[in-house]
Amino acid sequence: MRGKIVKGIAGFYYVHVPEHGVFECKARGIFRKEALTPMIGDDVEIQVVDPARKKGNIEKILERRSELLRPSVANIDQALLVFALHQPEPNLQLLDRFLAMVENAGIDVVLCFNKADTEQGSEGEALEEMYRRVGYHVLVTSALEDRGLEPLKKVLHHKTTVFAGPSGVGKSSLLNLLQEAVSFETGSVSRKIGRGRHTTRHVELIALDKDSYLVDTPGFSSLQLDDFSSQDLKDQFIDFHPFLDACRFKGCMHLKEPVCGVKEAVRDGKIHPSRYENYKAIYEEMQELQKNQ
Ligand code: GDP
Ligand code: ZN
Repeated sequence: MRGKIVKGIAGFYYVHVPEHGVFECKARGIFRKEALTPMIGDDVEIQVVDPARKKGNIEKILERRSELLRPSVANIDQALLVFALHQPEPNLQLLDRFLAMVENAGIDVVLCFNKADTEQGSEGEALEEMYRRVGYHVLVTSALEDRGLEPLKKVLHHKTTVFAGPSGVGKSSLLNLLQEAVSFETGSVSRKIGRGRHTTRHVELIALDKDSYLVDTPGFSSLQLDDFSSQDLKDQFIDFHPFLDACRFKGCMHLKEPVCGVKEAVRDGKIHPSRYENYKAIYEEMQELQKNQ
């Protein structure tokens, strides 16, 4: 049978097999020889040894599409980057930094502005419009008032998704709501996501349906900028890409260089000034970081 490793505890791997449930599996010696350790998120083939007690052996790890280190999960398809419209106010420099980190990891990203219920005017629409122009899929939700959850469920479908974003924006609230919706539909017991400060937790995948999974721990902390060099930061700003041909120098950093397509696009209103200013600020911060290493 084919399934996905959703949890690992003390040498046991818990493999979710759609329509058959979760099997407690051991990884047999072959993996040790191949120096391949099963990861949460791995798609695997298992042999059932005890159908009644749902026990089995992992026979084969299917080829990984991706590996994320923090948290350590294989085959992540996308990050749902959550910010709040208010409480806390969205820090767009932090947001652009998260976007750069996710781009650098080669993972698709969907932006979600939560706490739509706190909106006073049309902040949500403005941000939606701004980041849609950059090239991202943007959702506006309220975990409090159960708003925007259908479009959210749609983007999670058929994918393995890691939530990311600063604390206090509603990531756990959204995860709980999504999970409750599933538990209600499938009649299984709901398991609230405990986020106790003092409990060490293992990463776990929450199965939403037969091929949709959520990582229960947020990824991409803001301290991960050291994963790539400041020279590469510009490549992670996807809205710069269409204008590179107009830069005089190959490898233009879009800073002090004369004749720069990116700076021209900012002047012409084709790149949002906030994106460009944030690029410069993050670049400088990365340079400081590298100097001090
Ligand atoms: P996390 O740190 O990103 O996981 O955020 P939490 O889910 O713990 O939420 C932080 C706080 O914001 C809690 O007090 C939640 O009740 C509250 N919260 C979450 N979602 C919403 C929302 O859509 N609207 C409002 N007004 N508050 C929310
Ligand atoms: Zn340039």
